[in-house]
Amino acid sequence: MREPRANPKAHKGWGFELASSLRQKIWLYFILFTTLIMILLWLCQIVFLQSYYQLMKTNTIIGIAQKITREYDGSTEYDAKLYQLGQENEMNITLITENNVPLYNTDLMGGDTWQGVNNITVLNQYRDLVLADKKGYYTEVQRSTKGRSGDKLLFGTYMNTKDYGRVFMYLFTPLAPVGPTVTILSSQFVYITVIVLIIAFIISYFISRQVARPITRLTKSAAKLAHGEYDVVFEQGGYDEVDQLADTLNYAAKEISKVDSLRRDLIANTSHDLRTPLTMVKAYAEMIRDLSGDNPEKRAKHLEVIINESDRLSALVNDMLELSKMESGILKVEKTQCNLSKLTEDIVARYRTVNEDKGYQFELEAQPDLLVNADPARLEQAICNFINNAINYTGEDKRIIVRLLRKEDGSRKGAGLARLEVTDTGEGIAADKLPMIWDRYYKVDTVHKRAVAGTGLGLYIVKSVLVAHGFNFGALSAVAAGSTFWFEAPLQ
Ligand code: ADP
Repeated sequence: MREPRANPKAHKGWGFELASSLRQKIWLYFILFTTLIMILLWLCQIVFLQSYYQLMKTNTIIGIAQKITREYDGSTEYDAKLYQLGQENEMNITLITENNVPLYNTDLMGGDTWQGVNNITVLNQYRDLVLADKKGYYTEVQRSTKGRSGDKLLFGTYMNTKDYGRVFMYLFTPLAPVGPTVTILSSQFVYITVIVLIIAFIISYFISRQVARPITRLTKSAAKLAHGEYDVVFEQGGYDEVDQLADTLNYAAKEISKVDSLRRDLIANTSHDLRTPLTMVKAYAEMIRDLSGDNPEKRAKHLEVIINESDRLSALVNDMLELSKMESGILKVEKTQCNLSKLTEDIVARYRTVNEDKGYQFELEAQPDLLVNADPARLEQAICNFINNAINYTGEDKRIIVRLLRKEDGSRKGAGLARLEVTDTGEGIAADKLPMIWDRYYKVDTVHKRAVAGTGLGLYIVKSVLVAHGFNFGALSAVAAGSTFWFEAPLQ
């Protein structure tokens, strides 16, 4: 066999290279994924913690403000309600009219109140801020100063009341210090990152090993296959994809091995098949030159042999051409409406003229005008191959019966089939050989008498043609009982 082209990678280090790059990729993706998660965590827990907390706080306050607006009734008992609400939520609640008349004030924060409560200028300023805000409320974070402990959130809004018109509401609440939390989380975060990265490294190492190992194994086997070891086995194992790949490669190896043995057979067959007639042609030509040249009778006999052998040669070359066309996919079936009865009659008539002086009897029983959808040239090829075989293999009586009849189609109600049969009276084919006769280069009896030595391609060509048409076909035969070859085409 031809040496595979030198590929240094195929010989050394291929497996390793593949594994390492796959590993690197898996590692990289794992680390990227982990880093992404860590960044996300870091953003949520550390960077945006403050704003997120304030957002939550603001939302809670909005809820409370809505509650106050809903429940406001202007009564003196309302003071107690506000007081309770303020206590529950740890906030100072101030209600004040548009003209800065205080209505309620729950001083719950030990004097640490909002400066606006006692300052008209500040109140006016905030009233304007609240009114200017499109949202209907105004929020402000007041950072801790020397006199105050911790940051505060001021929330201002207003409601419309019956008694006082527009009443402004200021909710003042301490913001829990986020700073220490962030510090704790940050220090934790460093440890978590290190631990998670280590775990990611370990896991990705094992995963990549799991993934790469079977592939490396398959690569090694594939390299063996490339060197012509067709019996190499691609091992399954690992995961589904590898199993499927192994199956496919095993199948491919089997097919390659088949093709290879077919190629060997082809060379052996053709060289043998071509050499025999060529030897004969040469031998008889020499005989004519040296011995029978002057004897017209002998010369005619010898020339006849030469002609027969040349025919055989050209038939062989034709068959091989046909085969190679089929295998390269050039063979196309162009279906048209064709009169199978007429086609059969013409073919048989042609065979009669050519073969009758050799003593062959062609019996034809054909129902007229059976129309089928087929490629006439291809169908003729199939019928001729059947008849050629019948001529080659028929019995002493040299009878060949061609029948064309109409038959009901079991699968299509009301529709019919044209069934063509070619029967001979020869020695038949043993039941165990019958399925093989359609294979390429298959000959039942390879040491058959020379007169009927064929190529073993005829029926393979017939099969390909009929399969391409989608027609059913088969052979009925038994030893010493003759053979019938048939196909059935749906009638139009
Ligand atoms: P070949 O060129 O050898 O005839 P085919 O493919 O046409 O090749 O046939 C394959 C084999 O099937 C033949 O070698 C022969 O042994 C067997 N065979 C085909 N037709 C007949 C027949 N009518 N009677 C007996 N054997 C046959």
